[in-house]
Order: sequence, then structure tokens, then C-alpha cells
Amino acid sequence: MPEDTHHSLKVEMIEKCRLLEKMGYFIGTWGNVSVRVPEGFIVTPSRIAYSVIDPSDFVTVSLEGTVVAGHRLPSSETEIHRVVLARKGNTGAIIHSHSPYATAVACLHQNVPVFVEDMAQIIGGEVHCTRYVPAGQHRKIAEEVGKTIGEENAVLLANHGVLCCGRNLEEALVANQILEKAALMMMAAGGRGKVIPIPEEFVTSERNRFLYKYGTAKDAS
Ligand code: 13P
Ligand code: ZN
Repeated sequence: MPEDTHHSLKVEMIEKCRLLEKMGYFIGTWGNVSVRVPEGFIVTPSRIAYSVIDPSDFVTVSLEGTVVAGHRLPSSETEIHRVVLARKGNTGAIIHSHSPYATAVACLHQNVPVFVEDMAQIIGGEVHCTRYVPAGQHRKIAEEVGKTIGEENAVLLANHGVLCCGRNLEEALVANQILEKAALMMMAAGGRGKVIPIPEEFVTSERNRFLYKYGTAKDAS
């Protein structure tokens, strides 16, 4: 039997998928994750319940889109993960979820402006919504996501869900939580008018603070 490479990473991916299911961000098999590895990236298999998934079910795909390891079918949304990982060199992990508040904003085809500090730090910019593409049009939806996402760590998929990036899985999860909270607040505040975005210069300075100072002595002053 060939050695199961990246075993501990796959165990962490299973833990995160189960947590996302508990949080209501994944329902059933709707939702998938990927993590960059030297061979390309590891992605969750298509239509395998997270309650029964095993490390041997994961699929490794090259950045050119070829399956290089695994006996399962990779996620039907693998092309979206591939396009984003190929485009964004500093992204190490991606979560695609259907978290409800962020998906609600995606159903309005609206963007989520940066109007809270944690969004500036973790997401780093306004989260844009794609045009609608049916979920089964895998290449088209990936192309649309690739065109819509910029330096920021998240994108909304119209009438579908969200995609959140991070340097690792933990960061991608926090990005999804921050986006979900911002979407909830946008809905809660919406009845009173439009939320007020944070000025662009402070979005950049807060993102840089998170990347280079937060949690160090340099953040004291
Ligand atoms: P997969 O099971 O193929 O990953 O698809 C899940 C999903 O999120 C569909 O939108
Ligand atoms: Zn989906």
C-alpha cells in the first residue's frame, strides 16, 4: 500500500470540515476546502459526507489541474480552488462554504465593504460579488471568481456561497467567520441606511498592522 502523504494535514482538514458543518457553514457535502502542498494542492473529494470521510479520500491536484494522487473524484469545485491558488501566491488554504449571511449578501449581488476593523485586518479589502454562474459550470464559475477576487482574502459567489483564503486553514476559517459576521451586521444595520466604509488608507494600514505588527512589541505604540 502506498504511503499516505500529508496525513496530519488531512486530519486537520477533516477536523475543520466537521467544525464548519457544526457551525452551519457547511450543510451535508456542500462546502469544500483545499490546502497548498509542494505537489500542488490537496482538496476534499466530491460528495463524501464529512462524518465518514477518511484521510485516504483526499485528492492531490497539480496547479495545472491534473490529479496526482487519490482514488476519489476531487471536489466538483476544484477548478475554483485551482484558479485562486494559481493566482494568489500567498494563499495557502481555501474554504468554500455556503455560510448563510454572507450567502444572503451574495443573493443580493452586493459587495461587503470594509466597515469593521477585523475585516480590514483579516480580509484586507472590500469583498466583491461575482456575476451569477450556475454551480455546474465549473470552468466558467472559476473564471468569474478569478476575475473578481483581488488582493483581498474573500469573494462572494452570486446566489451560491463564499470563498475565503488564508495563509493556512486556520486563517481561512477566521476569514470566513469575519466575513459572515460582517454580512450579518450589514443585514442588521441595513434597515437604518448604508454601512459607512473605513477609509481606504486605514484598510491598508490595518492589514499591514495585522501582517507585520499585531501580537509583537512593535504594536505597542
Ligand atoms: P463537492 O461535494 O463536489 O465539493 O460540492 C460541494 C458544493 O459546495 C457544491 O456547491
Ligand atoms: Zn458550492
